[in-house]
Amino acid sequence: MSTLADEFDGFIIDLDGVVHLGWTPLPGAIDTLTTLMALGKRIVFLTNDPRYGRAAVAARLRGLGAAVDDDSVITSGWAAAVAVAAAGGSVYVIGSDELCAEVRAAGAPVVGAADAGRAENILVGGHSGFDYAELTAACRAGDNGARLFATNRDATFPMPDGPWPATGAILAAVETALGRRAISIGKPETGIFTIARDRLGVDRVAVIGDRPDTDIVGGRRAGLATILVQDGSALPLPAGDHRPDHVIPDLAGLVS
Ligand SMILES: [Mg+2]
Repeated sequence: MSTLADEFDGFIIDLDGVVHLGWTPLPGAIDTLTTLMALGKRIVFLTNDPRYGRAAVAARLRGLGAAVDDDSVITSGWAAAVAVAAAGGSVYVIGSDELCAEVRAAGAPVVGAADAGRAENILVGGHSGFDYAELTAACRAGDNGARLFATNRDATFPMPDGPWPATGAILAAVETALGRRAISIGKPETGIFTIARDRLGVDRVAVIGDRPDTDIVGGRRAGLATILVQDGSALPLPAGDHRPDHVIPDLAGLVS
């Protein structure tokens, strides 16, 4: 019996809402990853969650039972850290300690709130510690002409008790205060999909995700096949730019 997985040699797989919810694996997801790897499929995990470093994400996936190496994880935080370091100068970060570590690892100095006025760049990545002091420090940096970057624009991320505010919600506050729009690096921007595709090194590639506005739109614009994970067949299929090539109820739908 042929399966959807047969049509592709490599997959760019979203994490939140596809492999796990919070850090609880979704039913069948880890077994499906193991099956895909046994079939020789290439896999890169691509997440817009900027709170954790790549190694930490890979370690957590291994903890769930998936044989994942650090190089197969791409986060919006890492990609944004590389982009902001390439811009040059120091960075004031609104984000987690792990995001700050990614920025330093990319080669850019990170300055604290007290020195934010001297920063050449601001990087916004959602984290639970966001507060008025961070917003004020971003104002000081922005007022002195700092470039404004963001890891992504997702308004929320899925959790077992419902959606939680994500980078986009925090970024809206920063953009409003500064009166200008950030350069966003994560999905659906084409560049991060290109990085993921190049890392796979195969031709027949599909993007798998649960968000039409990031996973599907971004995959389409990057010229890749798209597979939407959408639980509930009664839900309407997204239209236009958001319309996927395939819909599966869960990751296991790839191999069944
Ligand atoms: Mg997702």
